[in-house]
Amino acid sequence: MKNVLDKDIFDRCNEFKSKYQKVLKMIEKYDHIAVFRHVKPDYDALGCQLAMVSWIKDNFPQKEVIYTGEDHITLTPRCFPEMMKVDDSWFREPFLSIVLDTSNADRIADQRYKLAKEIIKIDHHPQVEKYGKVEIVDTTMSAAGELLANMLFRFDAFKISKTTASYLYKAIVGDSNRFLYSDVSVHTFAVAKELLHLGIDMVGIYKEMYSEDLSSLEFTKWVLSHYHISKKGVAYYVLEKEDLAKLKLKPEQGKECLYLFDHFDDVHIWASISYDEEKNVYRVSLRSDGASVESVASKYMGGGHTQASGAKLKSLDELPNLIADLEKLLD
Ligand code: AMP
Repeated sequence: MKNVLDKDIFDRCNEFKSKYQKVLKMIEKYDHIAVFRHVKPDYDALGCQLAMVSWIKDNFPQKEVIYTGEDHITLTPRCFPEMMKVDDSWFREPFLSIVLDTSNADRIADQRYKLAKEIIKIDHHPQVEKYGKVEIVDTTMSAAGELLANMLFRFDAFKISKTTASYLYKAIVGDSNRFLYSDVSVHTFAVAKELLHLGIDMVGIYKEMYSEDLSSLEFTKWVLSHYHISKKGVAYYVLEKEDLAKLKLKPEQGKECLYLFDHFDDVHIWASISYDEEKNVYRVSLRSDGASVESVASKYMGGGHTQASGAKLKSLDELPNLIADLEKLLD
């Protein structure tokens, strides 16, 4: 018996119906397809990149599908396979680029995406720049993986394997902070339900995503004795080069203790600031319990979402202004 699509999934995204069909036609048309996502990938970026790849491979086994971009310090290979190393010669054949979870072209992790005959963009960040022939952007989705799942469920003549479903689930759980953010909706849970129906191992996925080794306790200990809180409730910690070295952390891991602040009544915005020696900037990760940190992130070379954004500081001289701007959000 054919599965009936959940009504909450069927009723959402009707405005994308014709674009979905265009995407399907483009996938069918090309023998060579490259799937991309943003730099500094997170669960959502990697999850939807690999879900797209795995869905195409399952349904069109004769096609050549590649996925590139930098590996992640801990997520690959723990939760996702390592990225492919693809020679420039591959990009000389006509191919289709599918770019997921990336609002602006500069942030696409492999700039060879632009050598494609045609480009598709699928994203849930606020629209910064148009770079695709077909663009599907829905900022009300908790994750790009949720939007991608909506599209794949509607391609009901095709199969979604357990592997694809697991990648989609990781994408959604990661970007919604375990279904915690305000953009989590009936649709998010409808998608999660359908993914469970496909047989994903939810407990196994959580173990893969969240188990840590004991060394992370040292980092927790450090954060608990070095954090600051501003008058109105902006909590933050600053990891200098020597702190990262002592704790054996890469700058991209600086945000991994942010969760410590996500449930206090008097903390409304929380941030990690870590020095990135390679780029000579401070990486900032911003989270909030409701205030739109995205507006401040875009003032400091960044962007993102209402409750989770990223930014950069050229030096710590900018820190007092950043905190003041975040405090203004809490007036
Ligand atoms: P992070 O703090 O790095 O985990 O980023 C939080 C969210 O903001 C993620 O969805 C990122 O994709 C997004 N983000 C981070 N930096 C930028 C940027 N420079 N431009 C647009 N979005 C960003």
